[in-house]
Amino acid sequence: MKVRITKDYALIIVDVQYDSMPGGALPVPDGDRVVPVLNKYIKIFTEKGAQIVASRDWHPENHSSFKEYGGIWPSHCVQNTHGAMFHSDLQLPENTYIVSKATHPDKDAYSAFSGTDLAAYLKEKNIKRVFIGGLATDYCVKATVLDAIKEGFCTFFLEDASKGVDVNKGDVDRAIDEMLEHGGIKLTISDII
Ligand SMILES: [Zn+2]
Repeated sequence: MKVRITKDYALIIVDVQYDSMPGGALPVPDGDRVVPVLNKYIKIFTEKGAQIVASRDWHPENHSSFKEYGGIWPSHCVQNTHGAMFHSDLQLPENTYIVSKATHPDKDAYSAFSGTDLAAYLKEKNIKRVFIGGLATDYCVKATVLDAIKEGFCTFFLEDASKGVDVNKGDVDRAIDEMLEHGGIKLTISDII
C-alpha cells in the first residue's frame, strides 16, 4: 500500500515520555527505539504541511491510577517532572498540538481522545485521516486508535513506530488484531510517500 500524505492528515504520537522509556517508572521494553522512526514520520508529515499531535500522560502526584492511591500502576508521568517530559530526541515541531491527558486525580485515560479536546480540534481543522504510533501498543496506542475510529477518522496504526509491553505474552499481537478488526489500517514508513 502507498499513502500520500497531505495537509489534511494528522500524525498522533502517543506518550513518548521518559517514564515510558527503559529505566523510567513504567518502562516499555525498547520504548526508546520508536524515537528515530517517529522522527522520520515527523519529517515527512511536516514537509507535507500535515498536523503533528503529541499526547502525554500528565498526572497530578496523587493520581488514582497510582498504587498508593488505589490504582494498579507505580507513580509515573507526574506533571512537570522529568519522567513526564517527551524524549528529548523526539523532533517535535514548534506547532505540535500537545494533548495532556488524565490530568485530574480521579480520572485515568489511556486514549489521547479520552477527556481531551483532540477530536474537536482535529475536526475543526478538517482532518480526515490520522496516523497513530508511540507507546505502548497494547495500552495507550490501542485505546487511541480505537477512539479515533469511533470518532469517524480513517485511522492508521504505525506498526514500526510503536512498541508494546506484552505483560501477558501475545498482548501486543492481540492489540494489533483488535485495531484491525475495528477498521484500523496497519502501516509502516515504506508505505508513506
Ligand atoms: Zn498514566
